[in-house]
Formats: sequence, C-alpha cells, structure tokens
Amino acid sequence: MKITLAGYNLDVSLIEQARNSADKPEAFTPETIAVAYARISRDPSPVSELREKAINDIEKARKSARAIVFDMGHQSVAEHAAFNFDVLDISRLCVESLEWHRLCSYTEKSQRYQELEEDFVEPSELEGKDLDLFRNIMGEQFAVYREVYGALLEHFRGRYPDQLETKRGTNVVEGYAKEDARYVTGLATKAQLGFTASGRNLEYVIRSLRAHPLREIRDLGEEFYRQAGAVAPALILLTDPVEYEKEFGRPLQDDHFTRTRPHMREVIGEIVRELSDTVEGTSPSFPARGDVKLFGTTPEPDLETLQAIIHTHTNISAETCARLARQLLDDGDGAARVIREFLRFSNPWEAATREFELAQFNFEVVLSAACFGQMKRHRMTTQLLQGYDPALGYTYPPAVIEAGLKDPFERIYDRTSEAFLNLKERHPHAAEYILTNGHRRRMIVRTDARELYHISRLREDAHAQWDIRQVSADMVGLAREVAPLTLMLAYGKDVFEEKKEELFD
Ligand SMILES: Cc1cc2nc3c(=O)[nH]c(=O)nc-3n(C[C@H](O)[C@H](O)[C@H](O)COP(=O)(O)OP(=O)(O)OC[C@H]3O[C@@H](n4cnc5c(N)ncnc54)[C@H](O)[C@@H]3O)c2cc1C
Repeated sequence: MKITLAGYNLDVSLIEQARNSADKPEAFTPETIAVAYARISRDPSPVSELREKAINDIEKARKSARAIVFDMGHQSVAEHAAFNFDVLDISRLCVESLEWHRLCSYTEKSQRYQELEEDFVEPSELEGKDLDLFRNIMGEQFAVYREVYGALLEHFRGRYPDQLETKRGTNVVEGYAKEDARYVTGLATKAQLGFTASGRNLEYVIRSLRAHPLREIRDLGEEFYRQAGAVAPALILLTDPVEYEKEFGRPLQDDHFTRTRPHMREVIGEIVRELSDTVEGTSPSFPARGDVKLFGTTPEPDLETLQAIIHTHTNISAETCARLARQLLDDGDGAARVIREFLRFSNPWEAATREFELAQFNFEVVLSAACFGQMKRHRMTTQLLQGYDPALGYTYPPAVIEAGLKDPFERIYDRTSEAFLNLKERHPHAAEYILTNGHRRRMIVRTDARELYHISRLREDAHAQWDIRQVSADMVGLAREVAPLTLMLAYGKDVFEEKKEELFD
C-alpha cells in the first residue's frame, strides 16, 4: 500500500504568500491535481509523477483538462478541485438560490443565534415609488422585529427564570426570543455563509445562477465565475457562452436549462385555466398531519426494506427475497423481528444504512420561509418548490400567541403581503425580497427512509427549532403509518435510547 496526501485546501492568504515567492506561480491552481487524476485512466505512470508533470507544464495540463473534461465528457474529473468562498452581504432570497444546489457544502449565519441589524439588500430591479415602498416596508419590519424581540425576551425570561442564573442559560433564553422575532424580517435581510464546492459543482452553480431572473443572483454567479475562473480556467469553462464558443467552436447548449421553466409556466398555466373547474373537488385527499400530506410511497415500504435486508445478507435473488419478505410480513412477528435485529446495534450518531433507501415517501409540505431555510439543507432529499404565496396564510411562533403578540405580527404580515402583491404586478421575481420569514410556500419533499431517519434524529430532537421540529414530526408520523416496521426507531436523538430500550424490552 502507498498512500500520499496529495493536496488539501488552504487559506487564500497563505496560498498568496507562497505563490509570491514561488518559481512557478502559475502552478498554484487546483487544476494540477484534477488533471493528474484525469490522466490516470490512460497513463501508467505513478500518480505522483503525473502530478509533477502537471505542475511542470501547466499550459499542457490545462489543454489536457479541456480535452478530457469537455471533449471526452469525463466531467467528474473536475470534482477533484475544491473551492471555498466567503459569501457576505447577500440576501436570504439569494441564499435560497445558492443552497438549491445540493451537492455543495454550506454553513451560514443563524438568525436563531444572532440578533439582526437593519441591514438588507435593495433589489436593483426596483426604483422610484416601488423602491420607496420596499424601503418603507423593510423599515417597518425591522421596527416590529425590535419591538417583538423585547417583548418576547420578557416573555421567555418569565417562563424560564432558572435559566437566567447562568451565562449559557441566558444565551439560550435570548436565542428563543431571536428565533421567534425573526419571523417578521424579510427575505432581503443580509446573510453570510461559507460555501464549498468541487470544480464540477461550482460550474453547475455558476450556470444556474447566471440564468436566474434576479440581478443579485446573476451577479453572484458572475463573481464566482470571475474568481474561480481566474485560478482554474480549464475547469470552469462550460459556464460562459462566449468563452465556450471561442474554445470549442460550437455554441453552448443551454436552451433546456434556461428556457424550459418559463416555457412550461405558460403551457401549464393554460392547461390549469382550461381544466381547473372540471377537476375541482375531485382530487383524492391524501393522509395529512398539520401542514404535511403524504401523497405517495413506493408500493410496500416495509416489504422493500425487508427485501433489501435479506438481499444484502444472502446471495439470493431479489424475487426470492421479496417472497421471503412477504412470508415474514404474513407471519406474525417475523418481519418485525428481522428489522428489530437489524437495528440492534444502531445508535443516534451513526447513519441508518442503505437498506433503508428502497422505501420512499412523497410529501407535500406547506412551510414558512424560516422552516424552509432549514429543510433545504437536507441534501439527500428531492425538493421541488412553489413560490411564496400569502394565500397560504402565515406562520405564528407559538410563543407569540402565548405572549399576546399576534396583533403586531399579523399587522406587519398583512402590510407586507399587500406590498408584495402590489410589487408583483410589475416585478414578479423581485417582489419576493419583501416577504418575511413567516410567509409560506408549498414544497414537495421526496425522501427515502434512510434520510427520514436522519431528519428525524436532528430535527425531532429537543435542540431543534420548533417549526422544523413540528414539520419533521408530522412527516415521520405519516410515514410511520404506512411503514411502521421500517421506521420503528426513527426518533429525535434525545429520546432515541429510551425508544430503543422499549423496543428491545
Ligand atoms: C440544532 C441545529 C442547529 C443548526 N444550526 C446551523 C447553523 O447555525 N448554521 C448552519 O449553517 N447550519 C445549521 N444547521 C444545519 C446543519 O448543519 C445541517 O446542514 C443540516 O442539519 C442538514 O444535515 P446534514 O448536513 O447532516 O445532512 P443532509 O444534507 O440531510 O444529508 C444526509 C447525510 O448525507 C451525508 N452527506 C450529504 N451531503 C454530503 C456532503 N456533501 N459531504 C459529505 N456527506 C454528505 C452526511 O452523512 C449527511 O449526514 C443546524 C442543524 C441543527 C439540527
């Protein structure tokens, strides 16, 4: 065995220092590793030599990266390069578009733990009276935020007097107030995050951001392109129509990427106008809990989990595994016993295994922007979104009702919705900046049981924020009705051991 740590990411200030005194400053690019790895498939030289070759002739390395990555379509090679970006002063709306890309990594400023300043992005699409309206509403939102933050702080201090005896407890109590007060702040509020992506994902992110209807989001894509393209031009090529055509002598094909959505909005819009009256009231009603509906699953989730467990622990065919699973399900405790034994050594810190990936669940969730901000981070799910819609009502934190603060919340929610609908007539996309964390949208979440275990452990746990805690409890509850065996240990970390003991008693 010969293992070499071939590279790792470093702070850019250190890279610059080393680069300024280097013989070959042009070799300070993540392309050398990506290219060396790309050459592994055809060149028998040891990979350390391939890396050295790439460093010694960076122009040739770039040429070969273009040939391998783009001409031959071996694009996964670009995944060996990693990029880190500090992203500051973008709106929460812009964060939603960035974090839509699920193969990347993000860590962002939490509105739960930090008090918000009146600091927001002004959309460049708005001007004149529209901009005045936007600024006024943002000012009002922050005024209500400060007012309700003070009132909520008093409410939580009264509710948890013992916590105030320690610094840590005081922080927790303040956190509760921040967490709930932020529901009245807008999606234009500034955020900051750390963002990490491989070359391949970064390229996809850039293409998608650059095709966005909002200027701020296009600018973000442009900035990623400018900065990453400067250090790794051979890996970030597919993003720019002009550069692409220059390089490859053919136009960048991105019609599907850029045109399908607006096109389909028209096509579907027409169908809905024609047919909605005839289907009204005829749709099946799906099982629901709170704001969550379960509208589909794989045919027999428990059978599929059993089938997978039998399959991975034997050498028998999928058909026979299915027949055995069927017999076990029909035979009293047989099926439960197999799954229970499979979970015997599980704990809340180790992921559920792949056997839980065959059982899948489709949910429709109506959730607040605050809750969506958390749900979107679960990258192993499929998430499909509708736009925010005031017709779906607003989310009120329970403590707001308890503290008698519903009125100021409702007033600012209503004021914001009115301004949103007004702006939307002229600015269908930019109007969303004004909406608050308490505004809601519909989304489809498709997840397998493995990810549902993960969501449950993190989000049903006592440390989780109340909004996503409720949504994930409803998701797991609904799924458990159709897959009681598969999900027999899907619980928050805090109660996991207790539930496990009950199971094995
Ligand atoms: C109480 C609490 C507080 C939080 N506070 C913050 C905060 O202040 N700021 C913040 O930014 N986030 C915060 N989060 C979000 C958290 O950091 C996660 O992003 C979120 O819970 C999604 O979970 P996940 O990343 O484990 O996995 P998912 O995306 O749900 O994926 C499931 C699993 O797949 C694997 N996986 C998925 N993608 C990758 C990948 N790219 N590389 C390696 N493994 C991968 C991991 O094993 C992961 O556990 C908080 C979460 C909780 C529960």
